[in-house]
Amino acid sequence: QARKRFGQNFLHDPGVIEKIVRAINPKPDDVMVEIGPGLGALTEEILSVNPALQVVELDRDLIPVLRTKFFNYPEFRIHEADALKFDFSQLVRDGKPLRIVGNLPYNISTPLIFHLLEQAGVVQDMHFMLQKEVVQRLAAVSGDNHYGRLGIMAQYFCKVQPLFEVGPGAFRPAPKVDSAIVRLVPHDTLPHPARDLSTLQAVVRTAFNARRKTLRKALAAMVTVDQLQSLGINDGLRPENLSLADFVKIADLVYDNKSSDSEAEEVSHD
Ligand code: SAM
Repeated sequence: QARKRFGQNFLHDPGVIEKIVRAINPKPDDVMVEIGPGLGALTEEILSVNPALQVVELDRDLIPVLRTKFFNYPEFRIHEADALKFDFSQLVRDGKPLRIVGNLPYNISTPLIFHLLEQAGVVQDMHFMLQKEVVQRLAAVSGDNHYGRLGIMAQYFCKVQPLFEVGPGAFRPAPKVDSAIVRLVPHDTLPHPARDLSTLQAVVRTAFNARRKTLRKALAAMVTVDQLQSLGINDGLRPENLSLADFVKIADLVYDNKSSDSEAEEVSHD
Protein backbone atom coordinates (compact mmCIF):
# COMPACT_ATOMS: atom_id res chain seq x y z
CA GLN A 1 0.00 0.00 0.00
CA ALA A 2 1.58 3.28 -1.13
CA ARG A 3 1.67 6.03 1.47
CA LYS A 4 0.53 9.48 0.57
CA ARG A 5 2.50 11.27 3.24
CA PHE A 6 5.73 9.89 1.79
CA GLY A 7 4.72 10.95 -1.72
CA GLN A 8 4.77 7.35 -2.90
CA ASN A 9 4.03 6.68 -6.56
CA PHE A 10 5.92 3.60 -7.65
CA LEU A 11 7.20 3.18 -11.19
CA HIS A 12 5.88 0.06 -12.82
CA ASP A 13 6.24 0.57 -16.58
CA PRO A 14 9.35 -1.43 -17.62
CA GLY A 15 9.81 0.62 -20.80
CA VAL A 16 9.90 3.87 -18.83
CA ILE A 17 12.21 2.39 -16.19
CA GLU A 18 14.60 1.27 -18.91
CA LYS A 19 14.50 4.67 -20.61
CA ILE A 20 15.34 6.42 -17.33
CA VAL A 21 18.23 4.10 -16.57
CA ARG A 22 19.56 4.56 -20.09
CA ALA A 23 19.49 8.34 -19.56
CA ILE A 24 21.32 7.95 -16.25
CA ASN A 25 23.87 5.62 -17.89
CA PRO A 26 25.36 4.18 -14.68
CA LYS A 27 28.88 2.77 -14.86
CA PRO A 28 30.34 0.11 -12.55
CA ASP A 29 32.81 2.51 -10.89
CA ASP A 30 30.44 5.44 -10.35
CA VAL A 31 29.55 6.38 -6.79
CA MET A 32 25.79 6.18 -7.19
CA VAL A 33 23.15 7.28 -4.70
CA GLU A 34 19.40 6.84 -5.07
CA ILE A 35 16.96 8.94 -3.07
CA GLY A 36 13.63 7.26 -2.26
CA PRO A 37 14.08 3.79 -3.78
CA GLY A 38 10.58 2.75 -2.74
CA LEU A 39 10.08 -0.86 -3.81
CA GLY A 40 13.26 -0.75 -5.87
CA ALA A 41 12.06 -0.35 -9.46
CA LEU A 42 15.02 1.84 -10.50
CA THR A 43 17.26 0.35 -7.83
CA GLU A 44 17.14 -3.08 -9.40
CA GLU A 45 18.25 -1.83 -12.82
CA ILE A 46 21.01 0.36 -11.41
CA LEU A 47 22.31 -2.38 -9.09
CA SER A 48 22.75 -4.77 -11.99
CA VAL A 49 25.40 -2.38 -13.35
CA ASN A 50 26.58 -0.72 -10.14
CA PRO A 51 26.40 -3.19 -7.23
CA ALA A 52 27.72 -0.64 -4.68
CA LEU A 53 24.68 1.64 -5.10
CA GLN A 54 23.60 3.37 -1.87
CA VAL A 55 20.04 4.46 -1.17
CA VAL A 56 18.39 6.92 1.22
CA GLU A 57 14.85 5.94 2.20
CA LEU A 58 12.66 7.44 4.92
CA ASP A 59 9.80 4.92 5.09
CA ARG A 60 11.01 2.32 7.59
CA ASP A 61 8.49 -0.26 6.38
CA LEU A 62 10.27 -0.38 3.02
CA ILE A 63 13.70 -1.15 4.48
CA PRO A 64 13.13 -4.90 5.06
CA VAL A 65 11.49 -5.18 1.63
CA LEU A 66 14.61 -3.70 0.02
CA ARG A 67 16.97 -5.81 2.14
CA THR A 68 15.19 -9.00 1.14
CA LYS A 69 14.89 -8.09 -2.50
CA PHE A 70 18.56 -7.19 -2.88
CA PHE A 71 20.14 -9.61 -0.39
CA ASN A 72 22.45 -10.92 -3.11
CA TYR A 73 24.18 -7.53 -3.43
CA PRO A 74 26.54 -7.43 -0.41
CA GLU A 75 27.82 -3.92 -1.22
CA PHE A 76 24.31 -2.43 -1.48
CA ARG A 77 23.75 0.00 1.40
CA ILE A 78 20.52 1.41 2.76
CA HIS A 79 20.51 4.64 4.77
CA GLU A 80 17.25 4.92 6.65
CA ALA A 81 17.10 8.70 6.74
CA ASP A 82 15.31 11.86 5.71
CA ALA A 83 16.95 13.04 2.47
CA LEU A 84 16.05 16.63 3.40
CA LYS A 85 18.45 16.47 6.34
CA PHE A 86 20.94 14.00 4.93
CA ASP A 87 24.59 15.00 4.58
CA PHE A 88 25.40 13.53 1.16
CA SER A 89 29.10 14.40 1.42
CA GLN A 90 29.54 11.41 3.77
CA LEU A 91 28.87 9.11 0.79
CA VAL A 92 31.84 10.34 -1.27
CA ARG A 93 34.26 7.43 -1.82
CA ASP A 94 37.91 7.76 -2.84
CA GLY A 95 37.29 11.45 -3.55
CA LYS A 96 34.84 10.59 -6.34
CA PRO A 97 31.85 12.91 -6.64
CA LEU A 98 28.34 11.48 -6.39
CA ARG A 99 25.88 10.58 -9.09
CA ILE A 100 22.51 11.13 -7.43
CA VAL A 101 19.26 9.79 -8.89
CA GLY A 102 15.68 9.47 -7.78
CA ASN A 103 12.03 9.45 -8.54
CA LEU A 104 11.56 12.08 -5.88
CA PRO A 105 8.60 12.46 -3.55
CA TYR A 106 6.82 15.41 -5.21
CA ASN A 107 5.59 16.89 -1.94
CA ILE A 108 9.16 17.73 -0.90
CA SER A 109 10.93 18.06 -4.23
CA THR A 110 11.57 21.82 -4.11
CA PRO A 111 13.16 21.94 -0.63
CA LEU A 112 15.05 18.75 -1.47
CA ILE A 113 16.53 20.31 -4.61
CA PHE A 114 17.60 23.40 -2.63
CA HIS A 115 19.20 21.07 -0.06
CA LEU A 116 21.05 19.18 -2.81
CA LEU A 117 22.20 22.37 -4.55
CA GLU A 118 23.99 23.33 -1.34
CA GLN A 119 25.97 20.11 -1.72
CA ALA A 120 26.69 20.56 -5.44
CA GLY A 121 30.42 20.58 -4.63
CA VAL A 122 30.38 16.80 -4.04
CA VAL A 123 28.11 15.97 -6.98
CA GLN A 124 28.99 14.81 -10.49
CA ASP A 125 25.41 14.86 -11.76
CA MET A 126 21.80 14.34 -10.70
CA HIS A 127 18.88 12.76 -12.55
CA PHE A 128 15.43 13.25 -11.12
CA MET A 129 11.87 12.39 -11.91
CA LEU A 130 9.81 15.41 -10.93
CA GLN A 131 6.44 16.95 -11.51
CA LYS A 132 6.67 18.36 -15.05
CA GLU A 133 6.03 21.86 -13.80
CA VAL A 134 9.01 21.66 -11.45
CA VAL A 135 11.25 20.68 -14.38
CA GLN A 136 9.87 23.69 -16.28
CA ARG A 137 10.72 25.90 -13.31
CA LEU A 138 14.25 24.46 -13.08
CA ALA A 139 14.93 25.14 -16.75
CA ALA A 140 13.12 28.49 -17.11
CA VAL A 141 15.03 31.57 -18.25
CA SER A 142 14.09 35.20 -17.63
CA GLY A 143 10.82 36.13 -19.25
CA ASP A 144 9.33 32.59 -19.00
CA ASN A 145 6.18 32.03 -16.96
CA HIS A 146 7.91 29.48 -14.77
CA TYR A 147 10.97 31.63 -14.07
CA GLY A 148 11.75 32.17 -10.39
CA ARG A 149 13.86 31.34 -7.39
CA LEU A 150 14.16 27.60 -8.07
CA GLY A 151 15.41 28.02 -11.65
CA ILE A 152 17.79 30.85 -10.78
CA MET A 153 19.43 28.96 -7.92
CA ALA A 154 19.54 25.68 -9.88
CA GLN A 155 21.19 27.44 -12.83
CA TYR A 156 23.59 29.26 -10.52
CA PHE A 157 25.03 25.87 -9.55
CA CYS A 158 24.15 23.55 -12.43
CA LYS A 159 23.52 23.09 -16.09
CA VAL A 160 19.83 22.09 -16.31
CA GLN A 161 18.76 19.68 -19.03
CA PRO A 162 15.12 18.55 -19.25
CA LEU A 163 15.18 15.09 -20.85
CA PHE A 164 11.69 13.64 -21.42
CA GLU A 165 8.17 13.53 -20.06
CA VAL A 166 6.48 10.62 -18.33
CA GLY A 167 2.70 10.26 -18.12
CA PRO A 168 0.76 9.29 -14.96
CA GLY A 169 0.15 5.76 -16.33
CA ALA A 170 3.78 4.76 -15.68
CA PHE A 171 3.18 4.83 -11.90
CA ARG A 172 1.11 3.00 -9.30
CA PRO A 173 -0.86 4.69 -7.98
CA ALA A 174 -1.03 7.16 -10.88
CA PRO A 175 -0.23 10.72 -9.78
CA LYS A 176 -2.59 13.54 -10.76
CA VAL A 177 0.17 15.41 -12.57
CA ASP A 178 2.50 14.86 -15.52
CA SER A 179 6.10 14.09 -14.73
CA ALA A 180 9.43 14.67 -16.42
CA ILE A 181 13.05 13.62 -16.09
CA VAL A 182 15.70 16.28 -15.64
CA ARG A 183 19.51 16.15 -15.55
CA LEU A 184 21.42 18.62 -13.39
CA VAL A 185 25.18 18.87 -13.89
CA PRO A 186 27.08 21.13 -11.46
CA HIS A 187 29.26 23.69 -13.27
CA ASP A 188 33.02 23.09 -13.00
CA THR A 189 33.39 26.81 -12.42
CA LEU A 190 30.38 28.96 -11.66
CA PRO A 191 29.51 31.12 -14.69
CA HIS A 192 28.24 33.95 -12.45
CA PRO A 193 29.85 33.61 -9.02
CA ALA A 194 28.40 35.86 -6.33
CA ARG A 195 30.66 37.38 -3.70
CA ASP A 196 28.34 36.03 -1.03
CA LEU A 197 25.88 33.22 -1.65
CA SER A 198 23.50 34.03 1.17
CA THR A 199 23.18 37.62 -0.09
CA LEU A 200 22.29 36.32 -3.55
CA GLN A 201 19.71 33.99 -1.99
CA ALA A 202 18.24 36.87 0.00
CA VAL A 203 18.04 39.16 -3.06
CA VAL A 204 16.36 36.50 -5.20
CA ARG A 205 13.92 35.57 -2.42
CA THR A 206 13.02 39.20 -1.76
CA ALA A 207 12.57 39.95 -5.45
CA PHE A 208 10.23 37.02 -6.08
CA ASN A 209 8.21 37.63 -2.95
CA ALA A 210 6.99 40.62 -4.95
CA ARG A 211 7.19 39.26 -8.48
CA ARG A 212 4.43 41.53 -9.79
CA LYS A 213 6.17 44.67 -8.57
CA THR A 214 8.91 46.56 -10.36
CA LEU A 215 12.47 45.96 -9.19
CA ARG A 216 12.57 49.46 -7.77
CA LYS A 217 9.76 48.54 -5.36
CA ALA A 218 10.54 44.88 -4.85
CA LEU A 219 14.12 45.59 -3.81
CA ALA A 220 13.59 49.01 -2.21
CA ALA A 221 14.92 47.82 1.16
CA MET A 222 18.16 46.60 -0.41
CA VAL A 223 19.23 48.91 -3.26
CA THR A 224 18.45 52.43 -4.42
CA VAL A 225 17.21 53.34 -7.90
CA ASP A 226 20.54 55.10 -8.53
CA GLN A 227 22.44 51.96 -7.66
CA LEU A 228 20.30 49.81 -9.98
CA GLN A 229 20.90 52.33 -12.75
CA SER A 230 24.64 52.37 -12.05
CA LEU A 231 24.60 48.63 -12.81
CA GLY A 232 22.84 49.34 -16.09
CA ILE A 233 19.68 47.63 -14.81
CA ASN A 234 16.32 49.16 -15.66
CA ASP A 235 14.55 49.64 -12.30
CA GLY A 236 11.15 49.50 -14.00
CA LEU A 237 11.60 45.81 -14.92
CA ARG A 238 9.90 43.03 -12.99
CA PRO A 239 12.00 40.38 -11.20
CA GLU A 240 10.90 37.80 -13.77
CA ASN A 241 12.69 39.79 -16.50
CA LEU A 242 16.06 39.82 -14.80
CA SER A 243 18.81 37.34 -15.74
CA LEU A 244 20.90 35.36 -13.26
CA ALA A 245 23.90 37.55 -14.18
CA ASP A 246 21.93 40.68 -13.22
CA PHE A 247 20.76 39.15 -9.92
CA VAL A 248 24.41 38.42 -9.13
CA LYS A 249 25.40 42.03 -9.94
CA ILE A 250 22.71 43.31 -7.56
CA ALA A 251 23.71 40.82 -4.85
CA ASP A 252 27.37 41.91 -5.07
CA LEU A 253 26.34 45.53 -4.70
CA VAL A 254 24.08 44.73 -1.72
CA TYR A 255 26.96 42.79 -0.18
CA ASP A 256 29.34 45.72 -0.67
CA ASN A 257 26.76 48.06 0.89
CA LYS A 258 26.53 45.75 3.87
CA SER A 259 30.29 45.44 4.31
CA SER A 260 30.80 49.19 4.14
CA ASP A 261 27.93 49.66 6.64
CA SER A 262 29.54 47.31 9.10
CA GLU A 263 32.94 48.97 8.65
CA ALA A 264 31.28 52.30 9.39
CA GLU A 265 29.71 50.77 12.50
CA GLU A 266 33.04 49.41 13.67
CA VAL A 267 34.58 52.85 13.28
CA SER A 268 31.79 54.50 15.29
CA HIS A 269 32.29 51.98 18.11
CA ASP A 270 35.93 52.96 18.48
N1 SAM B 1 11.91 5.12 -6.66
C1 SAM B 1 10.63 4.45 -6.45
C2 SAM B 1 9.95 4.21 -7.77
O1 SAM B 1 10.28 4.92 -8.72
O2 SAM B 1 9.09 3.34 -7.85
C3 SAM B 1 9.73 5.22 -5.48
C4 SAM B 1 9.43 6.65 -5.81
S1 SAM B 1 8.25 7.45 -4.76
C5 SAM B 1 7.72 8.77 -5.82
C6 SAM B 1 9.20 8.38 -3.58
C7 SAM B 1 10.01 7.57 -2.56
O3 SAM B 1 10.69 8.48 -1.68
C8 SAM B 1 9.20 6.67 -1.65
O4 SAM B 1 9.83 5.44 -1.53
C9 SAM B 1 9.17 7.40 -0.30
O5 SAM B 1 9.02 6.54 0.82
C10 SAM B 1 10.53 8.07 -0.32
N2 SAM B 1 10.62 9.27 0.53
C11 SAM B 1 9.64 10.16 0.84
N3 SAM B 1 10.10 11.16 1.59
C12 SAM B 1 11.44 10.93 1.73
C13 SAM B 1 12.49 11.61 2.42
N4 SAM B 1 12.26 12.76 3.08
N5 SAM B 1 13.73 11.08 2.39
C14 SAM B 1 13.99 9.93 1.72
N6 SAM B 1 13.03 9.24 1.05
C15 SAM B 1 11.77 9.72 1.06
